[in-house]
Amino acid sequence: MATLQVLVVDDEPGIRSGVVRILQNFTVGYPFMEEDFDFAVIEAGTGEEAIEVLNRRKVDVVLLDNKLPGMDGIEVLEYINKQQFDLAVMMITSYASLDLAIRATKNGAYNFMPKPFTPQELRATIENVAKHLFLKRMTRKMQVEGKQVRFQFLSVLSHELKSPLNAVEGYLKMMQEKQLGDNIDSYNTMIERSLARLKGMRNLIMDLLDLTRIESGKKERRLRETDLPAIARQAMDTMEPYAIQKNVRMTLSSKGNTTLLADADEMEIIFNNLVSNAVKYNKDNGTVTVHIEDAGKEIIIRVSDTGIGMSKEDIEKIFEDFVRIKNQKTKEITGSGLGLSILKRMVEQYNGTIAVESEPDKGSTFTVSIPRQ
Ligand code: ADP
Repeated sequence: MATLQVLVVDDEPGIRSGVVRILQNFTVGYPFMEEDFDFAVIEAGTGEEAIEVLNRRKVDVVLLDNKLPGMDGIEVLEYINKQQFDLAVMMITSYASLDLAIRATKNGAYNFMPKPFTPQELRATIENVAKHLFLKRMTRKMQVEGKQVRFQFLSVLSHELKSPLNAVEGYLKMMQEKQLGDNIDSYNTMIERSLARLKGMRNLIMDLLDLTRIESGKKERRLRETDLPAIARQAMDTMEPYAIQKNVRMTLSSKGNTTLLADADEMEIIFNNLVSNAVKYNKDNGTVTVHIEDAGKEIIIRVSDTGIGMSKEDIEKIFEDFVRIKNQKTKEITGSGLGLSILKRMVEQYNGTIAVESEPDKGSTFTVSIPRQ
């Protein structure tokens, strides 16, 4: 239960105590709100007193009489508007002229309530204000969070794209200036490095395309009975040249009915990411085992390696966009840091889960469970 602070500003003590009484034990709840609200009432007999309260403590709703002894209600409202307090104001007034209504609305008053009011009228009004305030705050929070996530994403992305560009540009300039002489063979290392950086960039762009397609929901899904071991085999074949270089042995096993109603391209993304990581982050002469198992209501995919492993703190981060664990062991390994975040989104589309067990220098096991539709 959250408590909204209601400031009632009225020079008539009877009205103030009436509000206290009516809002006692009153709660408001909506299905879209995580918790119900109740109300605590603070009293002010003048506009000056109200301003003093507003500057001292957090207030959520102001019930504001216009006719007050010193400064009047509309002046208090103008002050609230100028200070941009995060609250909702309800004017209470026995007569509302058009002029007052216009000035109040201009200064952001949520609504008017005629005086005298019945307990039901006050409760209905407060219920509306509470809902309005909740939605306003939620909208603002979501906008701020959305902007932050997008900003972070773009700044990391531009950095990731800029560094290979700078490298390739640097090598080209050195070649243009013929820094190593006229023999083209002298530039082989530079050319190889440039090509490797370009390949990294291409992979990053491909990953980004996957990601944006998943995010926008644009990727057309074709659900078919899909033979998962066949897809796993394809992913292993793709990694074969790299595995041979490191002398990593890959094996595949399956048990029971391992077909799943799924989009083959999406399953390919899952296997490609798991298998390529298991090879990439393996040690020379290591092994990768892929096991697919029918567990009745779900299918279990388990990819284990005997590689460099990860600490518990690392595991918590690896599913975030662009996160790569940077240490001596990963220094030479290239990647975008997007693979696992794509994988996670993909698995979630199937209402599945991913679990990771890992031990530094021993190896890692990624277990994906996907429920049958
Ligand atoms: P990347 O493109 O860097 O491989 P991923 O999102 O696929 O991006 O993985 C994020 C990070 O998680 C990697 O940079 C690596 O540090 C760690 N990681 C992923 N898979 C493994 C694994 N099988 N063994 C050890 N570390 C792994």
